[in-house]
Amino acid sequence: MKNSLYTIRLLALFALAAVCFADTPGPAIEFDQVVDRAVFQENNLLKIIRGLHPVAETYIQDLAPDPDFGAAPSGDHYFLGKLDLSRGVNTDSFIHKAHTGIGSLIPFSHLFSARFFPRGFAQTLLIDGAQFDRAHYDFEFVKREFLGDVRTYVINVNPKKNSGPGRFLGRIWVEDKEFNIVRFNGTYSQAHKNTFYIHFDSWRVNCGPDLWVPFETYSEESDLLYAAGLRRLRFKAVTRVWGFTTAEDRHRSEFTNLTVDLPSVKDSSEQAADNSSVESQRAWERQGEDNVLDRLEKANLLAPPAEVEKVLDTVVNNLLVTNDLNVVPEVRTRVLLTTPLESFTVGHTIVISRGLLDTLPDEASLAAILAHELAHIALGQQIDTKFAFSDRIFFDDEAILQKFRMARSLPEEEAANTKALEMLGKSPYKDKLGQAGLFLKALANSSERLPNLIKPLFGSRMAANNNVLRMSALMEKSPELQKERTDQIAALPLGARTALDPWSDRLRMAKLRAVPLLSPREKMPFELTPVSLHLTYEPVNQARAAGDQSGEPRAQETQTAAR
Ligand SMILES: [Zn+2]
Repeated sequence: MKNSLYTIRLLALFALAAVCFADTPGPAIEFDQVVDRAVFQENNLLKIIRGLHPVAETYIQDLAPDPDFGAAPSGDHYFLGKLDLSRGVNTDSFIHKAHTGIGSLIPFSHLFSARFFPRGFAQTLLIDGAQFDRAHYDFEFVKREFLGDVRTYVINVNPKKNSGPGRFLGRIWVEDKEFNIVRFNGTYSQAHKNTFYIHFDSWRVNCGPDLWVPFETYSEESDLLYAAGLRRLRFKAVTRVWGFTTAEDRHRSEFTNLTVDLPSVKDSSEQAADNSSVESQRAWERQGEDNVLDRLEKANLLAPPAEVEKVLDTVVNNLLVTNDLNVVPEVRTRVLLTTPLESFTVGHTIVISRGLLDTLPDEASLAAILAHELAHIALGQQIDTKFAFSDRIFFDDEAILQKFRMARSLPEEEAANTKALEMLGKSPYKDKLGQAGLFLKALANSSERLPNLIKPLFGSRMAANNNVLRMSALMEKSPELQKERTDQIAALPLGARTALDPWSDRLRMAKLRAVPLLSPREKMPFELTPVSLHLTYEPVNQARAAGDQSGEPRAQETQTAAR
């Protein structure tokens, strides 16, 4: 009986699939139109993003054979810069940041130079710049496939024989509403015997009506011979691109609304008294704090406040309430959009990096990180108020890593550690701190192999040379780190917990499914994993189509991609 029931369910599923596809044209009839539309949309995207300056971040992990895990990271490289798309994608035009250091730049420029991408790294944003067309490529229908909620045509793309070297060779996924390419995956045809192009898988997300924005590219090579076959390359890498619009674009639309909101901001009679000197000092410090935060957001390095900050605020509030702390002005939280693991404070604002947020295994571990920063605030360790003068934040984006140094002195760090442990001891997290200690052990374990992941861009180091420099007392209470146990998760892989809208920089918590691990290999603490986005259409599409002319590029709620 059970068997027949199972069969009936399966059939019902098949029937459903048949209905889904019945209203769409068969590939034999309409396929040429699909290709023409996809080519048109790809060239249209080139026009949209030309002239924009998104942030590009590439993180590379070198791989070495590992007896237990097949392959494990043995080194890493980090790059952060702004892309200049004003001259099309044929220009490899990164602004190299001096901060990243020569050591980390050289492998990057080798890896993502013309040797591996014929027209430079920017090519992974678009398939072939302005020459993605029928004159240069052959197209072959493969199948229909869902990527998340988005129904796509899967098409093989081959360069024509006489179209020249360095052409895209692989597969594209074209969504079937507006025929945008939402994913492409493959490599480039080779010019010479000694030219090697890496393989990559590039994903886009829907950020508005008929707008699919390049976001994440995963590359991996397990056995790439290069330099005339003398050297072997083994790595995985993720490139993220975001910040297609700026804070200024977003504020421009807010300016229009400001006149409406203004009466409610006016001083009420109770508060209308003159400011006391203490209040003046606090307001001055808050001014400096806001200037720094605004500047970081303007450089597309800080996410505009959205739903993730509410999660962080809740944890901070749990710590404040149980410790009977009343901090004025109130403590706020923000997220730095970059990968290196760090947290720091700017005045009374706690900033945590997306990479750190992604890899923290649970709320207690997050509380431990936030408690350390809250301790700096509670101890009254203030930032330099020189940034309260607006002119001090007028400098180019490229200088931002040099201008804003948030690192603390060793005595300040130690005082904050002590205070944070005291606060955690009174908090609702006091019995769950073993997991936080375990995270720190995993961090110590990876710190030598992944020096660029633990090298902060702004704040203080969390670890160095296999030693944890922050809250290390928590490790004493934690269980032993057991790499072989699948039920002990000390740290998550990178990119696991949050989803980013690359057009507006808004970040949200990803809807994580609990997946039982089959082997210790699947734990991948602090590791890069292949990009696999749950694609979906922006719900705002319907709203905007219905006449919403707010000028805001995106709605408040972000619904782009969940892993
Ligand atoms: Zn600190």
